[in-house]
Amino acid sequence: MTDDASKKLPSWIEEYHRDVLSFRYRVDKVLFRGQSDFQRIDIVETAGFGRMLFNDGVAMVSECDEFIYHEMISHVPLFVHGAVESVLVIGGGDGGTVREVLKHPGVRHCRLVEIDPLVVEGCRKHLPVTAAALDDPRAEVTIADGVEFVAGTEERYDLVIVDSTDPVGPAEPLFGPQFYNDVKRVLTTGGMVVSQAESCLVEFEAQQSLIRTLHSVFERVHVYNYTNITYPGGLWSFSLATDADRCPLRDFDESGVGRSGIAFRYYNPRIHRAAFALPTFQEQALAPHLTPIQRAEEA
Ligand code: SAM
Repeated sequence: MTDDASKKLPSWIEEYHRDVLSFRYRVDKVLFRGQSDFQRIDIVETAGFGRMLFNDGVAMVSECDEFIYHEMISHVPLFVHGAVESVLVIGGGDGGTVREVLKHPGVRHCRLVEIDPLVVEGCRKHLPVTAAALDDPRAEVTIADGVEFVAGTEERYDLVIVDSTDPVGPAEPLFGPQFYNDVKRVLTTGGMVVSQAESCLVEFEAQQSLIRTLHSVFERVHVYNYTNITYPGGLWSFSLATDADRCPLRDFDESGVGRSGIAFRYYNPRIHRAAFALPTFQEQALAPHLTPIQRAEEA
């Protein structure tokens, strides 16, 4: 093949999932490439999904659907709690979760603890759609291991959001009991923790293990689902755990969503309620560790 011919070939970035599945995205332009102490970082302009961030070849964020993940990880607990002032985000160095959290005017401070400075640096330069929020005066970025940070901090938070990669490498302890005991210690009375809880379709063992762990630490554990394009399998979950007697549906003040004046693209009160309806196999497998949902009319 001549050089001229090879230049015309489209380039692709490929994600492999457990050596059984792969996704390929057509790349128009490589924006950022780097190797940190923790992982390889690629930020690329794709032909179909906007800019995308890959950590070690795994899609983290795509401009086309990041709003789904970031709205659901943030607004569901914020509207269930109802009075959050301080938030701790573990992971999430792209800034998307911080962006959504700060849409709530009652939030005074949001600390992001990301282990990898290269993720923050790359996203600040090339993914402003999420990372611009990190420059908000109420946001504070700490580069540290979230496990160590939570074990050592004297700060207290109304809401902890674990916006983590899959349980491999430095993210593995973010799924374990020691970490969640430390999270419990840093929560204020009535506080909650929400976590990236993997998928009942492609990572069900990891999800079940996380839910068992949360059940061993917290009084109430719930799971809610969302759909997206760029995470394998399409159907993924978040967990919500708390020691407070606060049910995500019974205590959900739907009118507060409208009053907030926030412009959502995915989240709304119907989505909030529907997200807690789990497929039968997921509900049956997780039931021993989940707190039954109470609807407002059952209260
Ligand atoms: N929504 C994403 C997903 O599930 O694909 C998660 C995105 S966010 C970019 C995840 C971040 O968690 C990564 O940037 C990674 O560096 C960070 N991370 C992994 N382990 C961590 C730890 N122990 N402490 C703090 N951050 C961690």
